[in-house]
Amino acid sequence: MTPAKKLKVRFGPAGKPLGFKGDIVKVPAFLREIGLNALEVQQVRQINIKKDKALEINKEAKENDVLLSLHAPYAINFSSEKEETIEASKKRLLMALEVAHWLDAYIVVFHPGYYGLRKPREALEIAINAIKEVADLARKKKLKPLIGPETMGKKSQLGSLDEVIEMVKEIPNSKPVLDFPHIHAREGGILNTRKDYEKILEMLEEEIGKKAFNPLHIHFTKIEYSEKGERKHHPLGEGYGPKFIPLADIMVEEELEATIISESPILEQDALKMKRIVENILKGKSKKSLEKLE
Ligand SMILES: [Zn+2]
Repeated sequence: MTPAKKLKVRFGPAGKPLGFKGDIVKVPAFLREIGLNALEVQQVRQINIKKDKALEINKEAKENDVLLSLHAPYAINFSSEKEETIEASKKRLLMALEVAHWLDAYIVVFHPGYYGLRKPREALEIAINAIKEVADLARKKKLKPLIGPETMGKKSQLGSLDEVIEMVKEIPNSKPVLDFPHIHAREGGILNTRKDYEKILEMLEEEIGKKAFNPLHIHFTKIEYSEKGERKHHPLGEGYGPKFIPLADIMVEEELEATIISESPILEQDALKMKRIVENILKGKSKKSLEKLE
C-alpha cells in the first residue's frame, strides 16, 4: 500500500469575505470558522492600514492559523515613460512591504507595469532595475516579506510568465505570483489539462527552482478573455476556463505546497469549492464526478 498523501494547500479569499460584515481584524476568525486558512489583504486603491492595526491583524491571523499575503496598489507602473511614475511606484511598493512586514504577510503581490510605447524587452529591463532598488531599500530596512510580481492577463501589461520568471531571477527576495487565469487568458486559453500545468511547473523548477515553491503563490478564478487577453472574472461552474481539476490533481499527487487565493466574484465561496475539490481528489473520488463543481 502506498502511504497516504498529505495536503499542503491553503485556501482563502482576495480581500474581505463577502459574507463578512465588520472590522478586518475579525476576518481571520471568520475564515477559520468557515474552514479557510489564507487571506490576501487588499491595499489596491491605497495603503491605509496603520501599524497598530496591522499588528492586531497579524495577531488574529496567527491565532486562527491564517497565512497572510498583501496585494499592493494597482497604481504601480515600473515601466512607465514618466520617471515620476516609476518613482511613485517604488514608494508604493516599499510602503506595501512595510505594512506587510507588520502584518507578517509573507509576500507582497503587485502588477509590474505596462509596455506603453516601449518595446517589451526595454520595459522589462527598466522595471527590473527599479524593482531591484526597492528590494535593496527593503533589505536595508530589514523588511521580511517577499516581492511578488504577478503574471498579468492583458497583452498590454508587462508580466507574461517568461517576464515574471526573468524578474524573479534578477530580483533578490522575490517569488513569482502565478495568476493561472491570467496566463490562460493572455495566451488564448492554454490551461486545460494536467500536462499544461506540469509544463509551467517544470519550467519554474528549471528556471528558478526553490524560490518559486514552498509555497507556490497562486491566484485562481474562472476568466473570460478576448484577443487582447483578460476581460472578466467568473465564478466556478459557469463554463469558463482555466480548468481547476488538473491543477488540484497535481497538488494532491505531488503534495505540492501552495497558497490558493480565490479572486472569483464570489470570493470565499469559490475558495471553499476549490478546497472541496482538492479534498475529494485526496479521498480518491473520481475526477469525472467532480467536474460538475467547476
Ligand atoms: Zn493582482
